[in-house]
Amino acid sequence: MRRVARALIDLQALRHNLARVRSLAPASRVMAVIKADAYGHGMLSVAQALEQADGFAVTCVAEALYLRDAGIRHPLLVLQGFADADDLSAIAENGISAVVHEPAQLKLLESTIVKKPVAVWLKVDTGMHRLGFPPADTQWIYRRLSALSTVCGAPTVMTHLAYADDRVDPRTQLQLAQFDQIVATLKVESSIANSAAVLSLPASHRQWVRPGIMLYGSSPFLDGDVVQDGLKPAMVLQAPLIAIKRCQRGDTVGYGGSYTCPETMPIGVAAIGYGDGYPRHAPSGTPVLVADNRAQLVGRVSMDMITIDLRNIKAPKVGDQVIAWGQGLSVDEVARHAGTISYEILCNAGHCVTREDLDLADGGAVSVEQA
Ligand SMILES: *Cc1c(COP(=O)(O)O)cnc(C)c1O
Repeated sequence: MRRVARALIDLQALRHNLARVRSLAPASRVMAVIKADAYGHGMLSVAQALEQADGFAVTCVAEALYLRDAGIRHPLLVLQGFADADDLSAIAENGISAVVHEPAQLKLLESTIVKKPVAVWLKVDTGMHRLGFPPADTQWIYRRLSALSTVCGAPTVMTHLAYADDRVDPRTQLQLAQFDQIVATLKVESSIANSAAVLSLPASHRQWVRPGIMLYGSSPFLDGDVVQDGLKPAMVLQAPLIAIKRCQRGDTVGYGGSYTCPETMPIGVAAIGYGDGYPRHAPSGTPVLVADNRAQLVGRVSMDMITIDLRNIKAPKVGDQVIAWGQGLSVDEVARHAGTISYEILCNAGHCVTREDLDLADGGAVSVEQA
């Protein structure tokens, strides 16, 4: 079923953003993070568009198997690793790498017979306190993993940063110092950097960087600016105006009447709402683009509609496209208004609307509707 609200995915923008990662971290390999259906952009078509990446990271084994079945031959890394012997056998058979972060996974590697050894990334917890072994255990786990016949080669050692979205948070340096103490003695390949660290912490780049959000053209920083970061938004979320009405001074708009018109004014209704992934908590004042000009959302977001103050728009008409975010209006700005982060908004929209891939490589738009 095709919905009126559509997410247009600009494959050229994805490639531009990957090139931006390369220019920032020229000595590192790039493990492009395409978990959560590539942050709502479509996992398979993003993997195909980012053929130049050195590998792809996903959350779970099922995602990695799906990519292999679909013909993706790149190194694949499962960030949560394997949960049981079936998972482990499946990734071994398909040449998929796994993060090992839990003693139970070590036991599985010791007790399971696999067809081919598995490449593993040993995850160390340097302060996130989510996944990973305590730093003090890293040495012996590294040795154990290296000695196992189920493990292929030396583990890559990784950690994840908890505070990098704030460029000046001093705890990031503590995490780096903690990590360096560990890898200094091991002489191994390592990986630290998410998007924020790719952009702001060259010392963290190491052999592999793991960018996610920046590939999609959104800034990882709390106060981020995609233009300053040199990124291009990869998703345009749009829907047409389906009604324009003239409201009088004192009229209220939408559920609960949270917005009162200060004067006689045109109110536009666009066919997109929280059922399409538009954030329900976006308040009056959240920007949208109408026929390429800025306007503001007014009143509450409905399931399938938003209402817009059209006073700034010259000659608006039914059928004009309303852009919720995209080129010219960063999803970061919308997220800040809605009190959330772009990551959440992009994932939600990706689930809800019809996606269409655009490839502007040859000057012409090639549009492929995703299944
Ligand atoms: C999601 C994730 C990333 C990517 O983070 P971004 O902030 O999107 O760049 C990197 N590493 C791990 C372990 C992750 O879970």
